[in-house]
Amino acid sequence: MRLRPVLVVHYHEISLKRGNRPLFLRHLRRNVERALAETGPVTITQLSGRILVELDDHPAPELARDRVAHVFGVASVTLAYRTPSTLPAMKALLARLLDGRSFASFRITARRAFKTYPMTSVELNRALGAFVLERVPTRVDLEHAEQEIHVEVMPAETYIALDRTDGPGGLPVGASGTVAALLSGGIDSPVAAWRMMKRGCRVVFVHFHSVPYLPATSQAKARALVERLTAWQYVSRLHLVPFGEIQREVVLSVPPPLRVVVYRRLMLRIGEELARRAGALALTTGESLGQVASQTLENIACIDDAAALPVLRPLIGMDKLEITAEAQAIGTFEISIEPDADCCTLFTPRHPATRATVDEIRGAERALDITRLIAMGADGATLETFAFPAARAAVS
Ligand code: ATP
Ligand code: MG
Repeated sequence: MRLRPVLVVHYHEISLKRGNRPLFLRHLRRNVERALAETGPVTITQLSGRILVELDDHPAPELARDRVAHVFGVASVTLAYRTPSTLPAMKALLARLLDGRSFASFRITARRAFKTYPMTSVELNRALGAFVLERVPTRVDLEHAEQEIHVEVMPAETYIALDRTDGPGGLPVGASGTVAALLSGGIDSPVAAWRMMKRGCRVVFVHFHSVPYLPATSQAKARALVERLTAWQYVSRLHLVPFGEIQREVVLSVPPPLRVVVYRRLMLRIGEELARRAGALALTTGESLGQVASQTLENIACIDDAAALPVLRPLIGMDKLEITAEAQAIGTFEISIEPDADCCTLFTPRHPATRATVDEIRGAERALDITRLIAMGADGATLETFAFPAARAAVS
């Protein structure tokens, strides 16, 4: 008997405003396709309220399921198997699926999508339940079953599934447009980028480094982080901006306590220039209120003053423990904690101002040729592209 696996992909329809639904579904379907690219042949159909992925000739249905379980917008994915809707056929499939499995308790949850089927759901539960009891040393537990067996009877065929995997929820990447994420090698900014992806944004990454003043480790970390995050958006671009020379110019004219805020304002402006070129409508950073000296309300106000595009800070209300837990869950933490010399440690005073004012900062910046510095950063940046699951490809 040949197994006929199929993925049943559910999304949270309830959160969808009517007008957004076609856009949401278009992106969701495309992202499911991308997530499954190169895993094997699939046939994707859109039904009402769910997406069906047929895996008849697919070599690794579990891998396909795990991939789809990482697509933003997916609420849950069930790996089911198709069978004709006769009791003997259902039993034969069940026998095959139960082979080698053991569980202390189970329940059958049968549903009939068409009510003219000759057996009721209760009768199906009983008949199939008795069949399971004949083959597996287990018991029925309707309340807390260790193993739930889903049976869905449709006019043409029946689906039987032994598991359901939660998806990440959120909105499909691409449905909300593009943002440029300022990505350091730290713990916070990768989580911020991931959160924006979860809200349906395609993220373009911008990393500032101080080569040759500092070693290239921060770039290596940025690459590793982008590679990890690309699993959620399938294709990524990373701009690597040489920042050391720019910092050197700042040091020549800006008093030490104001330098950190001036660096951040320059990062924002350069990020904004790259964002415009990439068609991004906003910037995003990993700042969280009060976490470090540069992240007081006063300094955030000073930093924002330099940007024309909105600066989105998805972590603003989170504390370090929450951010760290999320970094661990998405697999960026282990990369972020690798030792490295971030550009912010270069030419940085020991006591940065925690309450800079916009006037003070604008005054200090008067000594700088801001336009030239922005061009220096944006034009000096190199671009790399990343694809999931394939390896990185350098572009220029
Ligand atoms: P992170 O953990 O993301 O490094 P942080 O707690 O170290 O953040 P800051 O050093 O104040 O905080 O940086 C604030 C934000 O500025 C970062 O979250 C990131 O978005 C951006 N940023 C800082 N350094 C860089 C860099 N070298 N390249 C790109 N963006 C940066
Ligand atoms: Mg940092």
